[in-house]
Amino acid sequence: MANDLIASLRIAHNKPFSLASHDPGATLGWEKESAKVELDRVKLRLDVVQQRLYAEEKHSVLLVLQAMDAAGKDGTIRNMLAGLNPAGIHISSFGVPGGPETQHDYLWRVHAEVPAKGRIGIFNRSHYEDVLVVRVKNFAPRTVWSKRYDHIRGFEELLGDEGTTVIKCFLNVSKEEQRERLQERIDDPEKRWKFRLGDLEDRKLWPKYQKAYQDAIERTTTAAAPWYVVPADRNWVRNLAVAKILLHHLEKLDPQLPPAEEGIEGLVVQ
Ligand code: AMP
Ligand code: MG
Repeated sequence: MANDLIASLRIAHNKPFSLASHDPGATLGWEKESAKVELDRVKLRLDVVQQRLYAEEKHSVLLVLQAMDAAGKDGTIRNMLAGLNPAGIHISSFGVPGGPETQHDYLWRVHAEVPAKGRIGIFNRSHYEDVLVVRVKNFAPRTVWSKRYDHIRGFEELLGDEGTTVIKCFLNVSKEEQRERLQERIDDPEKRWKFRLGDLEDRKLWPKYQKAYQDAIERTTTAAAPWYVVPADRNWVRNLAVAKILLHHLEKLDPQLPPAEEGIEGLVVQ
């Protein structure tokens, strides 16, 4: 049952994909109160499996979060990681490239942040910006960004082959919900620091971003590095869905605790 639900959010690589047919307000059949209880259960399980991943030091997991402004990338990270062992988590945020980043190819800064074995890495934005904002705002010509879907598929295949499971979540917020959240950021002094005037420029380009996301997801979802489209108008749905997706992939890896040294069993400490 749980796996069916995760499968329903996963974008197949061999089927046509339409972002517009995914409802940002979906509740996935959950109720708010029971979803909270379920989230606690999922997090307890995440804690156990993360500990094993960390102890085994064989695989790593990279969760890529992409979304329009105010869809809740930060909230998802904060919510999901509370209760996990921070030593095993590596969080990276990618903003406008600067300094040496501008002197290298677009994957250079990204590759350096891929989690080490035993770790869970979370990307708050990612290499996908190089086929999203870069495309929408013409920061590079089509001849340049159009080749990147192939690069990205190859890059993620390399990571998979070398022990990093790549999972990508698009937090799908509606335009109306974004309007409310941006307004709240303007009106609430505690949230105002999150707002930039440029957010309104991006909002005006909404249809172009939707098209860029549509293409990016369609062209880079693979069996080994799948995209998930997560309904994000309700925070509690978004949080539970992302936690379940992460747990699903961790459990698939089935990390094992390393065997104890010979002669430890039954030992009595004096
Ligand atoms: P935020 O995540 O809201 O703090 O903002 C980060 C900003 O950096 C967003 O407006 C992104 O579109 C922008 N950004 C991230 N990566 C790139 C990139 N490769 N090229 C240009 N802008 C980028
Ligand atoms: Mg922002």
